[in-house]
Amino acid sequence: MEISELRKATANHRVSEQLRFLEQSTLLRNVFSEQGKRWVYFRRLEKVSLKGIDLFAAPDIAVFHQNKWTLIRIRFRSGKWLPTSDLEHRLMAHWATKQTGFPSATQEYRIRDLAWSNGVWRERRIEFNEQQMNEAVDLLLHDLQEMRWTQRMALADPSLNTLPLAASEKSCRTCFHRESCPAKNGLQKAKQNQREYQIMLNSKQSNKVSEY
Ligand code: SF4
Repeated sequence: MEISELRKATANHRVSEQLRFLEQSTLLRNVFSEQGKRWVYFRRLEKVSLKGIDLFAAPDIAVFHQNKWTLIRIRFRSGKWLPTSDLEHRLMAHWATKQTGFPSATQEYRIRDLAWSNGVWRERRIEFNEQQMNEAVDLLLHDLQEMRWTQRMALADPSLNTLPLAASEKSCRTCFHRESCPAKNGLQKAKQNQREYQIMLNSKQSNKVSEY
């Protein structure tokens, strides 16, 4: 067997194991065994409109159980749980309340995260109330504003020299954009270069003003 075939076979085996265990998970075993539960599957590209933006926050599956809908996000590759992860998951409830045929009251929902980690599916319960849901939307709108600001800066200076950089080197270690980022040879060095570039731009600007 060639290496590529071996890799493919190993990946297939891993995925079929994940699916087998998923069928046995507490959250989903009743769905798979067809024991009369109501459930709906969603594609993540299904969007709703929220405060003027398109919100892509569909759960992977919603299951009706004990008078509530449980919104479940399934993660086959679980990354580290970040402080913002709870907030992001709460957006699922916003998404559901905007769906035709689903309840509009947030207390009609539960939110669960089901993540594959060290050979088992781990379930996480996401607590939420009205205030936490509002915070989730505020965070989303704030991120969106930052992205627009970053896009504007990138368009104004395509050299990427004025783009905001990460707060710590830790973020850069796993960043997929590192090779094309000014921080590819070190974050502190990139920040220093940015400061010098900014000083140079400011002095050019003041020279122009004094010429007039
Ligand atoms: S490598 Fe660049 S884009 Fe990636 S986290 Fe660091 S500063 Fe941000």
